[in-house]
Amino acid sequence: MPPPVVWQQRWHPLREEWVLYTSHRSGRPWVGDTHKAAEVTPPHFDPTCALCPGVKRLQGENPPYTGVYGFTNDLPCFSADAPAPAGGEGFYQVRPATGTAEVGCYSPDHAKTFVDLTDAECRAVVDFWAERTVALGARPDVEHVLIFENKGSLVGTSNPHPHCQIYAGNLIYGFTAAEVASGRKFFQKTGRFLGQEILAREAEGPRVIAQNNAWLACVPWFARYAYEVFILPKRQVSSLVDLKPVERFSLGLMIREVATRYDNLWRMPLPYVMAVHQAPADGEDHTTYPFHLEFHPPLRKPDTMKYLAGPEIGGGSMTNESDPDTKAAELRAVSSVHYRKLPANYAKQRE
Ligand SMILES: [Zn+2]
Repeated sequence: MPPPVVWQQRWHPLREEWVLYTSHRSGRPWVGDTHKAAEVTPPHFDPTCALCPGVKRLQGENPPYTGVYGFTNDLPCFSADAPAPAGGEGFYQVRPATGTAEVGCYSPDHAKTFVDLTDAECRAVVDFWAERTVALGARPDVEHVLIFENKGSLVGTSNPHPHCQIYAGNLIYGFTAAEVASGRKFFQKTGRFLGQEILAREAEGPRVIAQNNAWLACVPWFARYAYEVFILPKRQVSSLVDLKPVERFSLGLMIREVATRYDNLWRMPLPYVMAVHQAPADGEDHTTYPFHLEFHPPLRKPDTMKYLAGPEIGGGSMTNESDPDTKAAELRAVSSVHYRKLPANYAKQRE
């Protein structure tokens, strides 16, 4: 057994910040909140769900859609109608929040999650993301297209209907802005792509959890959360727009596999925040941007949240109470077939 990762700081090459590792503290006595995940089985259609087909929303009504369905968020956080703010000259800077926000339903079936999507449905989701990136990125009032999925009530989603959100506005989100800078800086210094450098270091290592023709999923060496997973492209690309059809398809399958392994970890639907990290659409040259996907599960044990507290919120640096190698091994050890589809005696067979 390698020594545990304790009293160690690792440099996060994308964000250019230190992450503190304290894996000896993961077993500390815990008398705080615990969160037993209940295996809820939502109905296939919920007339009170604003995302189900045929349901009336705050604004308008969903058509009887059958595949992926996207629409403008009823309460978007960016708008083409954003008024020019008054005042704020000089020190207190202010600007309008222009652009739009959209919602993308993965499936008309209210009960599905990404793990339940067919191969074709997985592909349709990634195709939808790429199409919306092109269309929204072309708008003059949009500088960045942020695609993300909040899954589970622990990350603030009350609605289980499988869906993502797309924020497209004149704001380049902070982590993306940091990755633009780190990708450029690394290329200028070494002539190499930062994303491919990380890929090369993870590819042969103990933190790979899955891979296919175009993608590699791993718990990166510099993970900020226990069970944090990155999906890295096997060639340099900077956005969804760069992906070939076959790469879109295999990305959809890789997302499904990561979500499946998550669920199999503790045999419960694992909540997470997933974000597509892609280059801004601000007209600049972003050929060095390290495109990838990140998954951040809020749990560090089946019933224990990773709370962001003094060091993270107060101090602004992340503490990870786990060893990325160990967490990757756990995710690699579970089946890539979802537990609901496994024979009942599967667990016994493994013993
Ligand atoms: Zn629904």
